[in-house]
Amino acid sequence: MTLSTPVHTREHWARLREEVARMVDEVPLYAGRAAAATPAPSPSPSPSPSSDEPEAVAAWLAGMPTVGKRDLRRGFPKSLVRRGADLKAELARGTVEIIATSGTTENRLQVLWEHAWWDPQEREAMRLNRRVAETMPAGASGFKEAVLTTPVCGGATCHVGDLSRAERTIDGMLFLNQVADPTHWGPAELDRMVAEWNELRPDGVETDPAYLAALCRHVTRSGARLHAPAFVTLTYEQWTRAHKRAIQAALPSPLYSLYGATETGVLFMECTAARLHHNTRHSHIELLDAGNGRARVLVTSLGRTWMPLLRYDLGDIVRVAEGPCTCGLEAGGYLLERVEGRVNDSLTLGDRLITPAELDDAIDAAAPTVEAWQLARETAGYTLRVVGDGGAAAAQAVSRLVEGPVEARAEAAILPEASGKYRLVRPA
Ligand SMILES: [Zn+2]
Repeated sequence: MTLSTPVHTREHWARLREEVARMVDEVPLYAGRAAAATPAPSPSPSPSPSSDEPEAVAAWLAGMPTVGKRDLRRGFPKSLVRRGADLKAELARGTVEIIATSGTTENRLQVLWEHAWWDPQEREAMRLNRRVAETMPAGASGFKEAVLTTPVCGGATCHVGDLSRAERTIDGMLFLNQVADPTHWGPAELDRMVAEWNELRPDGVETDPAYLAALCRHVTRSGARLHAPAFVTLTYEQWTRAHKRAIQAALPSPLYSLYGATETGVLFMECTAARLHHNTRHSHIELLDAGNGRARVLVTSLGRTWMPLLRYDLGDIVRVAEGPCTCGLEAGGYLLERVEGRVNDSLTLGDRLITPAELDDAIDAAAPTVEAWQLARETAGYTLRVVGDGGAAAAQAVSRLVEGPVEARAEAAILPEASGKYRLVRPA
């Protein structure tokens, strides 16, 4: 069941109706979906509702089937290319390219990536946050940005190996990392990143929270200092409370979550009042009730020529916030309290759903000395792998939550997946 219809402008609903009707008409994967959404016995299925009334458009959309990662993988790219569009020609011209996302294996996707779409929607999302908007005003130049994440090859970037700072700078953006696994960052590599950061003096840093936490732990340990950017955006994967604590011990900059995916663009941006606002100009979001204020996210893209998405289930769970937000922004759409994590990394116990964020709440409250954790499902019970002190207390807290045995195991490091991302919950 979807949550109550969000508030949007009439223009948003009209655009949604028009774009969805075009997707159904032009994109093979979505062919026939509108017909299925029209209640029988309608003599000739209407391709769209007769009005732009929010409830009418929302109900029409809600009657269509959802699309998952498997659907996007099957028949890629042909089933996702609009009728009449010439993918080969546009690939040759470079207006669109095929890139692979860096998710875990079961989440990995190929994406038709359009520069003309990506950059504007990302910048607009970021500017939903007042501090970011002041630091990075539209049309202004000279904004300095650094990126710290996995260097795994994807899209236009590939920064593995010994590359110069110039080779790692693309469109004025400095990619700091060139070693796939942060556990292999030696002192020299860490010092190089700190030095480059301080030479650039970035206004904004975009980072994987696990990677910045590792760099900040080194800064704290070594007594070094980091230039404080006006803001840091946390993206690429879920943050934990331990990540934030390690980062904030070395950096006074505010940390803002930027939530989205390579295949969807940026969907929500955290504001100065710690709520996530919907990037309404570039997508329509439906939230499917998952109980206790939580919901699954369905995305319908707006304004995309290539690989438009229609009711795409990202496989993520979020926690809904009560509006309006105290930051004053009223752009419409849903307001979120936080991202709870992947459905695949959540535990289903009877009718209870325990998300990675809830596990992190319990672990951090019981043992704030834990630097990193990973819960592994075993045939009977669970093992909690822990870096840092307090493993036994953390395992006890998880045991209370899952109402079953949890064994603590001390680890020197939690290893990332091949993609460079970490997994908080591992299947048996
Ligand atoms: Zn706000």
